[in-house]
Amino acid sequence: MSKPLGLYVHLPFCRRKCAYCDFPSYPGRLEAREAYTDRVCGEIAARSEEWGRLEADTVYLGGGTPSVMEPSQIVRILRRLGQCFRIRADAEISCEVNPGTLRAGFLETLRENGVSRLSVGAQSADEAELRLLGRIHSWEQAEETVRRARKAGFSDISLDLMSALPGQTWDRLKISLQKSLALGVTHLSVYSLIIEEGTPFHRRHLKGELALPDEEAEREMYWNTAELLDEAGFEHYEISSFARPGFRCRHNENCWNHQEYLGFGASAAGFFRNHRWRNPAGLDDYLSGGAPETEEVTPEGARFERLMLGLRLTEGVSLKGFWEEFGMEIADACPDALSVNLSRGLLEVWEGRLRLTRRGMDLMDRVLLDFLP
Ligand code: SF4
Repeated sequence: MSKPLGLYVHLPFCRRKCAYCDFPSYPGRLEAREAYTDRVCGEIAARSEEWGRLEADTVYLGGGTPSVMEPSQIVRILRRLGQCFRIRADAEISCEVNPGTLRAGFLETLRENGVSRLSVGAQSADEAELRLLGRIHSWEQAEETVRRARKAGFSDISLDLMSALPGQTWDRLKISLQKSLALGVTHLSVYSLIIEEGTPFHRRHLKGELALPDEEAEREMYWNTAELLDEAGFEHYEISSFARPGFRCRHNENCWNHQEYLGFGASAAGFFRNHRWRNPAGLDDYLSGGAPETEEVTPEGARFERLMLGLRLTEGVSLKGFWEEFGMEIADACPDALSVNLSRGLLEVWEGRLRLTRRGMDLMDRVLLDFLP
C-alpha cells in the first residue's frame, strides 16, 4: 500500500518584494487573489479526478505570504483539499504567515479549519537587518504574531531567521536567536542568505555595497547556531532546521525522505508515480491555465534525488530503506562517489545510515556533485 501524500499549495502574493527575494511572489497583485483561489481549487479537483481521492498526511500552505489572503479564500482551499483528498485526522497542516500582515480573526479562522502549525517569517530580531532586507515589519510585530498565534490556540509555532547577512556578526545573530527562544517557539529554521541573480541585493553586491561575512565567519555562525540551539533543547535534524523533540516539520521531513507530494498553484512542483512536474511560475500564465512542465524520473535520477534530499537530514539516509526502495545497495548504485567521500571524511556510516560528517555538511554541494548521475 502506498504511503500518504504531502499536499502543498503556493500562495504567491506579497505586500512588497524583499531585497533578497527571488521566490515566485507577486506584490501589487492582491486583486487577483479571488481568481487565483478559483484556479487552485480547480487544479485540486482536476488532480483528484485524475488519480482518485488519495490519502494525505500533511498539508503545507506556503508563499509568498499566505497571510495576505482573505480568510475565506484559505478556507475555500482547505475545504476543497478535504473534499478531494482523504486527509488523515492526525495530519500536520501548516501555514506560513508574515508579521505585519495579519488581520483580525485570520489566525482563529486557520485554527477553526484544522491548521495545526504556523511558520512565522521573522528573519531577524534586529531592526537594522530587517530594514536592510526590505521586510515590511518590525521584530515587535513578529513577537506580537507569536503571541496572537498562541492566543488563537496554536502550540506548534516555527520561526524563520536568516544568517550570514551583510554586516552580521555572531553576536548579532545570537541576539536574534535568544529573542526567538524567549518566545517559546517549537521550531526554528535558520537559512543562510544566498545572493540571487536579478534581486536588488545582487545589484548591490556587484557594486560592492554589501559587506557579506566571509566563508569562515559564515561557518562559525552556522555551527555556533547549532550549538546554542542544542543547549536550548532543539534537535538539529536538517541542514537549516531545528526542532524541540516531537516538533519536526513532518511535511518537509517527508519530502527530504523522498515521499510523494502534490503541489498546487503558480510554480508549485509535484512528485508522484515516478514523475516530477512544475506549474508555470508566472501568475498570469498560471491563471490562464498554463500546463505544467513534466518529466519522468529515471531510476538513476530517483536514486540521486533520494541521496541529495536525504543527506540534508542530519541522520542521513537509511541503508536498508535505500535497498528496499531501489533493490540495490548505495555501494552498488554509486561506488566511486561513496568510497571517495567516505575516505575524505565527508560521509560516514552510523547506525545503519549514511550521513554527512560535520565537515561534509560544510561541503555538501561538493559531495552531491560526486553523486550526480
Ligand atoms: S515576504 Fe517572502 S516571498 Fe514575499 S517578497 Fe519577502 S521573502 Fe519573498
